[in-house]
Amino acid sequence: MTLAPLRDLVRLLLPAQCVGCCNVLVGSEHQLCAKCLLNLPLTHYADYSDNTVEQQLRRWVNVEAAMALLYFGHHELGQRIVHDIKYHGNSTLGHLMGRQMGIALQESGRFGDVDLLVPVPLHWRRRLQRGYNQSLLLCEGIAQVFRTPIDSRALRRTRYTDSQTHLGSAARYANVLDAFCAPHPQSLQGRHILLVDDVMTTGATLAACSRVLLDIEGVRVSIAALSVAD
Ligand SMILES: [Zn+2]
Repeated sequence: MTLAPLRDLVRLLLPAQCVGCCNVLVGSEHQLCAKCLLNLPLTHYADYSDNTVEQQLRRWVNVEAAMALLYFGHHELGQRIVHDIKYHGNSTLGHLMGRQMGIALQESGRFGDVDLLVPVPLHWRRRLQRGYNQSLLLCEGIAQVFRTPIDSRALRRTRYTDSQTHLGSAARYANVLDAFCAPHPQSLQGRHILLVDDVMTTGATLAACSRVLLDIEGVRVSIAALSVAD
């Protein structure tokens, strides 16, 4: 007998807890308590050009602008948030953090003429295992602020890539370079695309996706990640 229904019932009966610190949420708090929202490990990269994320990506591709909202590596709060969206499919938190990204993008003024949101795709096998694409959840949150359409089929992952954690950045890039394609390039011509991912480590995956999009006539690419390894 599976314990899942029992677990869901317990969740329904217990008061909602903060994803960051497990304290009970009160009043209008959702997912994160006011204290954790105030203590988000923000990078503020959206606000200035030539930031660390842009420098990393421009080793490989010419992106218009790039940002990551949170530090990930050494910040427990950032890790908890990313983990809950990526592995637990917490769509409410994904949309909440997407909106936070949208606000940072809008306030920066550097991403103003973006006209299409594209999530980094999962391979269909992984998408089937998880049942969702965490980058699409973030896009949906961003779109609530940015009022920009999403094209979740703009990119397709053609090859299943194993975990890359053991590889250096150059090897990672080589490993993913031919792992993506754009199945309907005509519909993307002339667009300024915001490519969205949950975690940027070396930037190899985002650079490989950007390269495919930049091969299409008139396309410009900007990048928004929820978090960056630090
Ligand atoms: Zn909290």
